[in-house]
Amino acid sequence: MFLLLNHLRRQRREIALPRGPRGSLHLRHVDAGSCNGCEHELQAAASPFHDMQRFGLFITASPRHADVLLITGPVTTRMRRPLEIAYASMPEPRLVAALGDCALGCGLLGDPREFLGGVADVLPVDVRIPGCPPDPETIARHLVAALERPRA
Ligand code: SF4
Repeated sequence: MFLLLNHLRRQRREIALPRGPRGSLHLRHVDAGSCNGCEHELQAAASPFHDMQRFGLFITASPRHADVLLITGPVTTRMRRPLEIAYASMPEPRLVAALGDCALGCGLLGDPREFLGGVADVLPVDVRIPGCPPDPETIARHLVAALERPRA
């Protein structure tokens, strides 16, 4: 058994399986009013095919366990308070990521009576992920870059 494990470890080193950067980020996703296009791409990024977990990126169910508040969609009037509560519940240091053009305040959706604007109008945004919707590679690339960022 010991020989087999050693052999497997050696083989793993030889074929240099990608392990991603050091560290990890736990992401609490909140839909603040999107059309669900951004959610589809986020789901694809977390699927076994794209497997963003191999880069240390994990979706978590609670803001209390999260490093990043990942927000999709423009912020509706009703979602402002839940966003603020989720942000206040997160342990420091923490990051806010705006996923998609709507979250960045320049998307297709935008009825002034219903939407307050982009995420930056409500919370400080650290990571900006452009696209309508951004594809899984773009989502993973921006979040991996966030692993290197200092958190406030
Ligand atoms: S950025 Fe595009 S896909 Fe994402 S919520 Fe806005 S309209 Fe939908």
